Amino acid sequence: MILILIIDGAPDRPIRGKTPLSVARKPNLDSIADLGINGIMDTIAPGIRPGSDTSHLAILGYDPYKFYCGRGPIEAAGIGIDVKPGDVAFRANFATVEGKGRIFDKKVVDRRAGRIENTDELIKALREIDLPVEFFIEKATGHRAAVVFRGEDLSAEVGDTDPKKTGEKVKRCEAFNYKAKKMAEIVNEFMEKAHDVLEKHPINVEREKKGLPKANALLLRGAGSMVKIPSFEERYGLKLSVISATALIKGVGVVVGAKVLTPKGATGNKFTDVKAKVDEALSEIKRSDVVLLHFKATDELGHDGDFEGKKEFIEKLDRELWKFLEKDFCLVVTSDHSTPVSVREHTADPVPIAIKFEGVRRDEVRVFSEFEAYKGGLCRIKGLDLINLLLDLTDLAEKFGA
Ligand code: ZN
Ligand code: ZN
Repeated sequence: MILILIIDGAPDRPIRGKTPLSVARKPNLDSIADLGINGIMDTIAPGIRPGSDTSHLAILGYDPYKFYCGRGPIEAAGIGIDVKPGDVAFRANFATVEGKGRIFDKKVVDRRAGRIENTDELIKALREIDLPVEFFIEKATGHRAAVVFRGEDLSAEVGDTDPKKTGEKVKRCEAFNYKAKKMAEIVNEFMEKAHDVLEKHPINVEREKKGLPKANALLLRGAGSMVKIPSFEERYGLKLSVISATALIKGVGVVVGAKVLTPKGATGNKFTDVKAKVDEALSEIKRSDVVLLHFKATDELGHDGDFEGKKEFIEKLDRELWKFLEKDFCLVVTSDHSTPVSVREHTADPVPIAIKFEGVRRDEVRVFSEFEAYKGGLCRIKGLDLINLLLDLTDLAEKFGA
């Protein structure tokens, strides 16, 4: 049916006329461009710098201005919390605090608690805390976690408890308006109780003996309230699968009701097992109508300013893509935004897009790059229009009018 390959942040801005995509040896990506119809895409809108979450929502046909509820709920969903509409989710990190008195008198001395990795036992202990509302806590990568509160009248209009700087006191959660008072009080109660639990936990007693920073506080930030999102299947009548190893993208998949898969060996970085993911996509497309296959490494390498690394990963990915060329499903290759090595952040430069399928109006574009794609027959499209375009090309679209 339809396979959408997203090479996260792969497009770039030229350095002395070259980009990683334009110089990489990538015969398979070039063949897809050659056989297909090409264009450039503003995943959100011209000049709007996309996040990976907002742009993925748009690419899947969900207007992020309507459906985006912040990074907190999406990431929480991505690491396995069943986030429901009305829930308030926070991103969290284990940190080291020091000083006398209660939690809000203490100063943050390490926002990552010495980059602690194994937090399973600490999280288990935190789940025992007694609060007036239900809450969920799950481990993310490294020192990170997510906390979700569920109850009547909870609001995400509250501040962070993470001061985001070392040497500063842990912040008391502030309500931005009257309606958010309850949420702020619960968060502050959670902060106090979490500190008590963590401070005397055997793992921290052990860490102190070894001279390691204690993971004795959980700092919360980025509150977001989950909105009601219709599933992809409800909207389009099609089954969607998302293959990714990145919590944020998996979260987007979860909130739109997709089946989310992370094959063994998929890491979300340059060491990922490309073959495992490509093979998973090939078997999933037999069961699903639309498969979104996501690779993160190019974005990370863009953030690192690593031109050569980005080029090498594109080549590594390309070596497996001949398997897609053999098939006759509708194949889309694109990206969620540019992450230029010169900027080390996402930019709004439109991304190249190529669609290969029987019946597309093949154009004169022969290679997949930022410098060629705009010459193609798709011209310049918006991310939000992509699913409609694909439904039309694959004869799944309904007629508007008589
Ligand atoms: Zn991205
Ligand atoms: Zn990024």
